Amino acid sequence: MQPSFAPAAQTPVVDLEGRLLLAEFLLSSTDLQASARRAVDWLVAHTDIEQAVVAVADLLSGQILLVAEHGVTSNAIADFALSREDEGHPLIQALTRGEPTYFDRAKGTFHSPLHGPFHAIPLKVDEDQGSQGLLLASAHAPQLHPEAVWLSRILARQVGRLLSRATLAETRFGQERMLLYSIINAVTDPILLTDTEGKLIIANTHAEKLFAAPEDSSEGWRRAVSLNNMLFSAALSTSAMVHTELARRELLLVDPLEGSDLLFELLSSRARDERQGTYVVSILRNVTDLARAKEEIEESYRTLRVAQAEVRDERHRLELIIDSVADPIIVTDPEGDIVLMNEPAERMFTVPPNPDDVAQRRVRANGAYLTSFVSNVLTRSGESRYRGELQLIDPVSGRAAPVEGLAGQILSEQGELIWVVTILHDLTEALEKARLYEQLKEASAELERKVQEATAELAEQNELLRRQHIALEQASALKSQFLANMSHEFRTPLNAILGYTHMLLHGVSGAVSDNQRKSLSRIDSNSRHLLALINDILDITRIEAGRMPLTLTRFAIPDLVNEVMAELEPIIKRSNLEVVAKISGKLPLLRSDRSKVKQIVLNLLSNALKFTASGTVTIKVSQNVAAQTIAVGVTDTGVGIAPEDEGKVFEDFRQLDSSPARGYGGTGLGLSICRRLSHMLGGTIELNSDVGKGSTFTLSLPVKPRRR
Ligand code: ADP
Repeated sequence: MQPSFAPAAQTPVVDLEGRLLLAEFLLSSTDLQASARRAVDWLVAHTDIEQAVVAVADLLSGQILLVAEHGVTSNAIADFALSREDEGHPLIQALTRGEPTYFDRAKGTFHSPLHGPFHAIPLKVDEDQGSQGLLLASAHAPQLHPEAVWLSRILARQVGRLLSRATLAETRFGQERMLLYSIINAVTDPILLTDTEGKLIIANTHAEKLFAAPEDSSEGWRRAVSLNNMLFSAALSTSAMVHTELARRELLLVDPLEGSDLLFELLSSRARDERQGTYVVSILRNVTDLARAKEEIEESYRTLRVAQAEVRDERHRLELIIDSVADPIIVTDPEGDIVLMNEPAERMFTVPPNPDDVAQRRVRANGAYLTSFVSNVLTRSGESRYRGELQLIDPVSGRAAPVEGLAGQILSEQGELIWVVTILHDLTEALEKARLYEQLKEASAELERKVQEATAELAEQNELLRRQHIALEQASALKSQFLANMSHEFRTPLNAILGYTHMLLHGVSGAVSDNQRKSLSRIDSNSRHLLALINDILDITRIEAGRMPLTLTRFAIPDLVNEVMAELEPIIKRSNLEVVAKISGKLPLLRSDRSKVKQIVLNLLSNALKFTASGTVTIKVSQNVAAQTIAVGVTDTGVGIAPEDEGKVFEDFRQLDSSPARGYGGTGLGLSICRRLSHMLGGTIELNSDVGKGSTFTLSLPVKPRRR
């Protein structure tokens, strides 16, 4: 392969200061290995070259030894074996030719420590010695990197200067050391070799990042590194220094770059070496992520425990709620198995204590009924509820327990069926009520039928009565009419009799003897009695027919009383009774029918005189201001009336002593007419009597007629 000396497409900016610093270091160094390492590190750090190797030919053996590498795997280093005698090897050819060679690894066939395309730049000491080594630098293009070219020149001088001093053994040892470095660097965990004081002997690059600060590092970085060293020494003093065996403990360090905490597991063990004495090997395993993961797991576990506790509480609450419901509640899973039920449900679906075969069979039957009921809501797609009736049996009593069930699906947030909740409601009472209601309805219908029958019967009787009433009214009207007519017919001849008797008594037809006068007087008195009787009958028939006219005037009642007493003067005189009128205070004028009031008072006083053999008859006139009435009371000390007869005396034609041998005259119509008249005038007649002691009849009349 022909080397290309064309300049790079884009000439990189040359870091002159960096070159100067490196050159100073290399020139002052007496260690070929350290110089070469510094050189490759610098090259990788300052260019786009990722891998670089310095290989030097041993002066005595002609072996090509790797003295420094960067970015090369430890396997590649271990496998590298080349001698100057391998003249056919492309790298030896490049060395011998003394010119940079570009190897496009896609075309190459030989074994090399670099895995991509690379340049092999010979380290040409001088014209006499020729090239004593190679700088292998990875490449992205055939163009040579100017920094690589510069470095190869300065390295060549260094090789020439130091190689003459180096011995084969030293170089070999150096290669072995480098191999060891590569190996421990290949390990991703920080590895440290310290003395018993904790002073660092060897550290791999991962450990260096934690425990060594580069020269140009920041203040914070340096502080972090010194803190890490302190922590590490302290950890060692309490673990590895005491135990000779493998010690294991946790160590918290600071990431110098990020400033974040890093948690390591520190494995340290003591070892003894003839040359080095006692030293401590420590491996740090980064467990930050592990600790974080552990924390996260613990946190999730805690959350889970809390959630579990909440679920437990929730379930407990739920159980309390459903136990407080009197209706049986059953929760089943999607397979139809019961997962929860309240106490009333347990009575139906769990075997009672000390069960007999029958009870067990009943519980099984109830369970089967329930399963088939719940399956309705499990199998019917699109319906989340199902309502229906179940015929259960009380396992203990064997009583039929008809219930109405309502089963509902409980879905998860994702819409999956998780439970079916079934609530059963006892229908025994409802059915009993329905039965009673039916009975009641029947009884009510029967009653209605009987009422209808009775009503019809009543209506019939009412009709009969109505007809009888009409017939009676007609008969009564006829009777009244007849009586009125008859009375009138009687009065005309009677008046003629009275008139002629009167004329005869007054000698119109000549003088009458004493015997004749006596007979004429009897005719006169009997005729008058008959006239009074006929007048009474006429009054009653008039009142009944509603043809008794009233003439209202204002008059003084005491005058009326005096007038009545004057009219009855002859009878009073004959009677030997003391008749007293008591008129209390000033009385208002009465507005009423004067002749009717007089007729009543006359009748009451006549009766008192008639039914009193001895003693007193008192007429008392008084006013009831509050009731606006005037009362005329007639009290006698006569025969009195028995309590059972008090109502009878006001009936038509009623006389308490109706025997032919009775001692009193009269028609039995007087009181009956009085009561009728008093009612017509808006008043009343009341009776108070004691047999053998006397009676009081009291007429009460309103001062002014009341509207009826
Ligand atoms: P009569 O024309 O018979 O008096 P009344 O209707 O006036 O008819 O009286 C009916 C009956 O009431 C009388 O027959 C008498 O038996 C009884 N009676 C009426 N007033 C008195 C009285 N002051 N004392 C006792 N009995 C009386």
